[in-house]
Amino acid sequence: MTKDYSRFDSKERLAEREWMVQTQLIGRDITDEAVINSMQIVPRHKYVMEDKQEYAYYDTALEIEAGQTISQPYIVALMAQVLELKASDNVLEIGTGSGYSAAILSRMAAHVYTIERHDILAQFAKDRFQNQGYKNIEVLVGDGTLGWAEKAPFDAILVTAGGPVIPDSLINQLAIGGRLVIPVGDKGEQKLLRVKKTETRQLIEENLGSVRFVPLIGTNGWSELNNTSIQ
Ligand code: SAM
Repeated sequence: MTKDYSRFDSKERLAEREWMVQTQLIGRDITDEAVINSMQIVPRHKYVMEDKQEYAYYDTALEIEAGQTISQPYIVALMAQVLELKASDNVLEIGTGSGYSAAILSRMAAHVYTIERHDILAQFAKDRFQNQGYKNIEVLVGDGTLGWAEKAPFDAILVTAGGPVIPDSLINQLAIGGRLVIPVGDKGEQKLLRVKKTETRQLIEENLGSVRFVPLIGTNGWSELNNTSIQ
């Protein structure tokens, strides 16, 4: 997608975003050019509430509407990198939240389908995609733990909330050769897992480290209750 993003940026915001990319991503272990390019372009400050915009490029998760969070930039980059996206990929995201990670993925893949359980978040995200000219993202309000069977199979699936197990529905909707990234554990802390589906439909699982995400709530996730998770 070619798009002039300068209309969303002041000189300060551009400089802050470049600082984020250099120090928090390249300064760590983010090497995928497509991830770096996307994060250089997508205006993260437009995905948070106005009173949080000055913190948008800090090395931290931030609160968004409905008591949810936009994840730490580094975690968004890491998850996008380990999905190993190709430009032709069909991607499913569970947990649209602000829409930021869907926007990042949409610049690296052919199509992004994203599901959010909070109507208000889905609406804000749709408005952002429309304002910023994203035409390859579709948003559904619903229970993402069931996946999106009509749009399957997916070359990549990203779950941006932490569940107790990997939902079978998501495994079933993953293409042969597909990659699924999901935080799995208890409500306080999870392991970030990447699962690859081989030609013989075997699942190869890797643990990418400890993370803290808000709970994945739904039929194949947690039941609804209070939480204190932060990513
Ligand atoms: N990807 C988001 C972003 O870039 O802002 C961050 C999302 S936040 C860490 C996790 C999101 O998952 C929350 O918005 C939450 O409402 C959503 N969520 C939790 N369980 C869900 C489910 N079963 N289906 C869809 N969304 C869910």
